[in-house]
Amino acid sequence: MTMYTSLKYIKGVGPKKELLLKNELKITNIEKLLNYYPYKYIDRTTFQSIKEAKQSEKIVQCKGYITQIRSEGSGTKERLTAYFTDGDSFIDLTFFTGAKYLKKSLKIKEPYILFGKTKKFGSSMSIVHPELTLQKDQSTLGSLYPQYHTTEKMKKEGMTSKSLAQIITNALILIQKDDVENLPEWILKYRDLATKKDSLIGIHTPKNYDELNRAIYRIKFEELFMNQLKVIYLKIEREQKYKGNVFTTVGDKFNYFYQYNIPFELTGAQKRVIREIRNNMKTGTQMNRLIQGDVGSGKTMVAFMSALIAIDNQFQACIMAPTEILASQHLESILEMNQGLNLNVKLLTGSTKVAERRQIHQELEDGTLDLLIGTHALIEDKVKFQKLGLVIIDEQHRFGVAQRAKLWNKGVVPPHILVMTATPIPRTLAMTLYGDLDVSVIDELPPGRKPIITKHYFDSKREKINEFIQNELNKNRQVYYVFPLIEESEKLDFKNLEKGYEQVAEDFPDYSISVVHGKLKSQEKEAEMIRFKNHETSIMVATTVIEVGVNVPNASIMIIESAERFGLSQLHQLRGRVGRGADQAYCLLITGDKISKVSKARMQTMVDHSDGFKISEVDLELRGPGDIEGIQQSGDIQGLNLSDLSKDSNILTDVRNIIFKIAEKDPKLTNPANNKLLKMLINTNISLFNWSDIS
Ligand code: ADP
Ligand code: MG
Repeated sequence: MTMYTSLKYIKGVGPKKELLLKNELKITNIEKLLNYYPYKYIDRTTFQSIKEAKQSEKIVQCKGYITQIRSEGSGTKERLTAYFTDGDSFIDLTFFTGAKYLKKSLKIKEPYILFGKTKKFGSSMSIVHPELTLQKDQSTLGSLYPQYHTTEKMKKEGMTSKSLAQIITNALILIQKDDVENLPEWILKYRDLATKKDSLIGIHTPKNYDELNRAIYRIKFEELFMNQLKVIYLKIEREQKYKGNVFTTVGDKFNYFYQYNIPFELTGAQKRVIREIRNNMKTGTQMNRLIQGDVGSGKTMVAFMSALIAIDNQFQACIMAPTEILASQHLESILEMNQGLNLNVKLLTGSTKVAERRQIHQELEDGTLDLLIGTHALIEDKVKFQKLGLVIIDEQHRFGVAQRAKLWNKGVVPPHILVMTATPIPRTLAMTLYGDLDVSVIDELPPGRKPIITKHYFDSKREKINEFIQNELNKNRQVYYVFPLIEESEKLDFKNLEKGYEQVAEDFPDYSISVVHGKLKSQEKEAEMIRFKNHETSIMVATTVIEVGVNVPNASIMIIESAERFGLSQLHQLRGRVGRGADQAYCLLITGDKISKVSKARMQTMVDHSDGFKISEVDLELRGPGDIEGIQQSGDIQGLNLSDLSKDSNILTDVRNIIFKIAEKDPKLTNPANNKLLKMLINTNISLFNWSDIS
């Protein structure tokens, strides 16, 4: 037997159940079955006296015996009542079905363990359809009862949590004699971890909380360890395999700009990050760096100065943005900074005219174009750089890893890569998702920013909200009105926006309104944005398409409708659209009157915090990583099942340190003591893992 043995060898699993497990839970072998953990446990470690049990309606467990069974009615209507006592008090056990079978199987005067929920009928307490286990049979399932999620279909076919528990117990017996350990012996000793087998037994059939907690710890440790082993070795492998262009100088253009052209003093964080980038690009290994910086932290400047380093070293650079509007915005601010430098900077997007496009291609190939700014067009087009040295990707979560790799040809030294994201994510998440990247954090905003005042209003306060908006419009300010995107239905989404628009038009008849949504062509969107930017319109009604990057300093009010439907990171992004000018900015979060406790807590988080990192940490805590903006697209966080990145950062840090030590002492994992790790890496989907390349 091995962990990969098929389910049909387990006692109690026939072809029907095998198929059911496969179709409903994607469980196809013993390993997957044993990795299907309980979602909770019912505490069967403690017992109540019947007197205690009868005090209120709750789940109880008592020891005792049946003194007598009484029957009422007949046939299918036959109903049984058993009198159960612990020698002190009595309680009624009621059975509405199964009388025929129960009359035969229930034993009088034999010690039972009684388990069920007490329910009041008139003046007396009783338990309906309790679970009764003979005390002598009780040992098989342990004392904390595992509860497994099952699907409707499983329930219909009689596969309950209880029968699943039995199948799992049988599977555990089946692998009893196998070597299932996948962590090296020395690590188990080093951290006093439960063995793999003990942890599987401990999580499925725990006898007590100690055993359960030890099992959970070991499983989390293993999950995080395997995750980080892959991530860290992927990084090591890449660093060994790909040479990087060596940027030896910080040259004339950079220095000239820094001395004469820079419009403001860099923040400490900007300086630090630029230094990190510079040091990275001169080492001879390819840079793969993620810059996390909150909205408005000044990432554009960092990008531009990094590009200057590449250009100073006779290389070309490019900046990719997710939308045309953002790309043009980058161009605009970079052209401003370019005064006196005379770099050849151009824009390439889907709407670039053919002649211009041809010109750009020409200049890229002959090397006269220094810096190309653009959208997807940069990858999709047959763009050939003469000497591409640095690729900067803005708003990372919209570009996949595979797309990035399209930017350069095989066989050439790959460019350095800088990925910039304004979606701050907690450190733990960054380490698991982007653990193969180096991370720089711009954790400081330029001075003099007025904090945005954020308020949460319930729908029913509409009058007050409108009064406030009217007041700001009177002061000649501009307003964003954001409506949620309803993912299931684009039509509904549009309707939502349309209805919203009508309402806004009715509420503020004296002001002109722009509408922007996902269905508009990018030119139409852009035209509308520009109208708003030029203050031809005062109110912008939109879906989240305006989420990223747009800069309209006079817009100082952000209204978010149905705010409870947005992720916190998304709310934070949206809020970042205002507060760019001199005026006091406001963000109003409007929710339904009846929202859940969690939703309320989330709104309060927005009201209390302006730091994107803090907000993302709360989001992680409240909703888990799957719901954090930008994470869904990145696919699952590989292999993390029990681990909770908001709580297990200490384990994560520990496993990382252990792996870094291993990588230092035994980089190729040739030490027999690390053989299990080597096997594990070879088995993973790090298909690029080419051991011969590591020297
Ligand atoms: P983001 O990180 O959101 O991309 P930007 O690069 O767009 O932020 O910068 C936001 C604004 O802050 C811009 O108007 C930019 O000119 C300004 N800015 C950036 N760095 C500084 C600084 N060190 N001091 C003052 N203003 C700055
Ligand atoms: Mg930006």
